[in-house]
Amino acid sequence: MNFLEERIVKDGVVKPGNVLKVDTFLNHQMDIDLIDQMGAEFKRRFGDAPITKILTIEASGIGIACLVARHFHVPVVFAKKSKSINLDGEMYVAEVESFTHKCKNQIIVSKKVLKPEDHVLIIDDFLANGCALQGLLSIVTESGASVEGIGIAIEKGFQPGGRMIRNLGYHLESLAIVDGMNDETGEITFRPQEA
Ligand code: 5GP
Repeated sequence: MNFLEERIVKDGVVKPGNVLKVDTFLNHQMDIDLIDQMGAEFKRRFGDAPITKILTIEASGIGIACLVARHFHVPVVFAKKSKSINLDGEMYVAEVESFTHKCKNQIIVSKKVLKPEDHVLIIDDFLANGCALQGLLSIVTESGASVEGIGIAIEKGFQPGGRMIRNLGYHLESLAIVDGMNDETGEITFRPQEA
C-alpha cells in the first residue's frame, strides 16, 4: 500500500451509498504534510509535462491543488460553482452534476485566467462518475488550452468515471484507486499499482 492508501485504511470511513468519508485528513480537516506528499508524487508522475496552470473545482479541490502547485511553481485556477449566472461572454461555462449533493451546478472560469497557450494539469480530490472532470475538460477544450494530465487523490474504480476518462485518451493518475468498499465491515480494497 502507498502512503495515501494506508491513510485511507486508517482514517477513512465507508458510508452507505458508495461514499467514502475522508474528512479528517483530506476534505474537511486537511493533513498538510500528507497533501504535500501527494503534491510531490504528482510532480513525479507529471514532471515531464510543460504544465503552466493547475485547474480544479471549488471547494474541496482547492486546498489540494494549492499544495500540488507548490511543486510545479504555477498558479492555481479553481472553477466556481454557481446556480445561475448571467452569461456575458467573459466566462467559460459547463454544467456539472454533483455526486455528493445530487444537484446540478454550472461551473465557470473567467477567460482572463485560462488562455489557448496554457498547458493544464487538472487536480481533484475524488473521481466517481466523472461529471466534475467532464465539466473541467469541456472548459479547457473551449479555452483552446491543452490538457497535460489529470491527477486525482482517490478514484472509486467501481464507478465509471476513470474508465471513461482513460478511454478518451487522457493521462489520468489516481494516487489511490478503490476497487471495492463495504459499509458493513468497513473493508476497502485497492487496485494494485506500480511501486
Ligand atoms: P464525480 O463527478 O466524478 O461523480 O464526483 C466527483 C466529486 O464528487 C468530487 O469532486 C467529490 O467532491 C465528490 N465525491 C464523489 N464521490 C465521493 C466520495 O465517495 N466521498 C466524498 N467525500 N466525495 C465524493
